[in-house]
Amino acid sequence: KPSPDFLPQLTACFAQPAAENPTVVMVEAAYQHHGLHFRYITCEVSPQNLEAAVNGAKAMGWAGFNCSLPHKVAIIQHLDKLGESAQLIGAVNTVVKQGDTWIGENTDGKGFLQALKKHINPENKHVTLFGAGGAARAIAVELALAGVSSITIVNRSKERAQAVVALLNNSTSAKAIYQPWTKKYAIATSSDIVINATSIGLYPNINEQLNIDFTSMTINMLVADCIPNPPQTHLLQTATAKGCKTIDGLQMLVNQGVIGIKHWTGVDVDATVMHDALKKALYIDTN
Ligand code: NDP
Repeated sequence: KPSPDFLPQLTACFAQPAAENPTVVMVEAAYQHHGLHFRYITCEVSPQNLEAAVNGAKAMGWAGFNCSLPHKVAIIQHLDKLGESAQLIGAVNTVVKQGDTWIGENTDGKGFLQALKKHINPENKHVTLFGAGGAARAIAVELALAGVSSITIVNRSKERAQAVVALLNNSTSAKAIYQPWTKKYAIATSSDIVINATSIGLYPNINEQLNIDFTSMTINMLVADCIPNPPQTHLLQTATAKGCKTIDGLQMLVNQGVIGIKHWTGVDVDATVMHDALKKALYIDTN
């Protein structure tokens, strides 16, 4: 008989608030499904305690951890190195221990890109992106690195949008422009990919709608929404009714988890197992 091993490798999420973060459900489902001797725990960590929490993880030799709000930028000062897109985005959501080095990665945009690539090759495509916060920035950088030709950022606050536009134009080959969002926005007919990366429609505000002229949305557009809960947002329902291909926020969430687990364990885990576990935990009808 092999000698028993009662010491799992540890991974976690540091967040505040933490209780509403469902990542544990999908990551633990993947660990169990693949027989990985790893555990994932959700930790409520305040900004004042972030350094102590990171030192704790280092002292215990964790395999790594996720950082959610409000730690995605503050974590950087505690790390040794950043991956290329994390460096460009200026934010980290996944920390990986490699030997004695602690590396910051950003998988938010990579998860989105992985879900997108199942439907469309992003090269030379035109993108309309609603939002300019952390998720939008991560998605915009990954799309630019993946070779899209243009990204139009539509956002309520001009300053935030212009910062993303400047980042893309200065550091990537994609051409970015800002469009104000002061009235019903008509999507350019040349758009191949339309993305909501604002928080509009997120539970419990499920009836909030993007201020879009929906007659400008056409069947040739692929429409994606970052909102994981509920996954079928008003935007996606409208797009589906028009016959557009769609990507929901759960797919983005699951795929960024798959990438994070690959970093920690080296294993390519089954996304379906994670997706099903999440849907069950979020009480989403699986029929
Ligand atoms: P941020 O707070 O950084 O950004 C929020 C964005 O939403 C900003 O662009 C903000 O505009 C815009 N916004 C919010 N309310 C309104 C409104 N009423 N009208 C117009 N614009 C509005 O959040 P994140 O970027 O971190 O997250 C955005 C969403 O993406 C969240 O719902 C989150 O759940 C989701 N997300 C999903 C992930 C996934 O894996 N599926 C991963 C990460 C995030 P302004 O700049 O003008 O304030």
